[in-house]
Amino acid sequence: MPHGSAFPARYAVFGHPIGHSLSPAIHRMFGEQCGIALDYVAIDATPAAFADAVRHFLAGGHGANVSLPHKAAACALADERSAAASRAGSANVLTRLPAGRLAAHNTDGSGLVRDLTGRQHCPLHGRRVLLLGAGGAARGVAWDLLDAGVDQLTIVNRTADSAVALAGALGATRARARHWQDLAGLGSFDLIVHATSAGVLGQPLPLPPGLANPQTIGYDLSYGRAAQSFLDWARGAGAKAACDGLGMLVEQAADAFALWHGRRPDTDPVYAQLRGSAA
Ligand code: NAP
Repeated sequence: MPHGSAFPARYAVFGHPIGHSLSPAIHRMFGEQCGIALDYVAIDATPAAFADAVRHFLAGGHGANVSLPHKAAACALADERSAAASRAGSANVLTRLPAGRLAAHNTDGSGLVRDLTGRQHCPLHGRRVLLLGAGGAARGVAWDLLDAGVDQLTIVNRTADSAVALAGALGATRARARHWQDLAGLGSFDLIVHATSAGVLGQPLPLPPGLANPQTIGYDLSYGRAAQSFLDWARGAGAKAACDGLGMLVEQAADAFALWHGRRPDTDPVYAQLRGSAA
């Protein structure tokens, strides 16, 4: 409960659509675990209404999560940006600063790396990684993968220019862009990160089997039905493991919770509860 107030602090996740969001349930569980009373709701805002809606909410509310399709807008409207938000050009967390100012953060990359290296036992140092997609989520995780020691990050996107731009922005000799039609000639990877929205949109994502070998881990940032097609492909291609993005979702939420409350919750019981209810 905020100091001096009879009401719990208010938080929200903004998206369009947003009805499916697990964020309210995750943050309620974190709050219960940490003994922090909070009120967390999902708010559907169209792109045209987003900036006004989030500013109105944060005039009284304490923080916001931002989901598709508002992450770039959230980054742009903030008065201050964390390094992770600046380099990605997108934000999934907004915090309130004094005098009505807003700060943007991006915890998608830290969430992915923590899930991969911790829960999924997928080491990143020295690994060859294929990143499929160059949208907001791909931009949010690419730097963190390199920071975690990935040796070579190959970025492939339907619109090749976006992959070239991302590889250029990464500016590292360890990042390169390749064309989608050349996927079959790229050999196999230690880790394949699927960061397109094809699954969410119910669209096919044709991938050649040779991208995976018996040591490969396939990781889809989506979860639930949206991840099924890629996970089926990875298993069919002979990958060692195929994981969805539920763990990343919980880890990025815990990093947001830490920004708001100064304390990072234990994610394992929350992950187990969500995984159990999804089973
Ligand atoms: P976005 O900014 O809209 O980008 C979409 C990306 O998907 C672009 O690279 C786009 O390529 C590509 N794409 C869309 N349809 C495609 C198709 N049919 N075939 C091939 N590529 C296609 O979306 P985003 O924010 O990056 O989100 C991507 C996914 O990550 C979503 O499913 C989202 O739910 C998930 N995500 C999960 C978490 C988590 O915590 N687990 C966090 C963030 C995001 P073009 O450039 O050619 O359009």
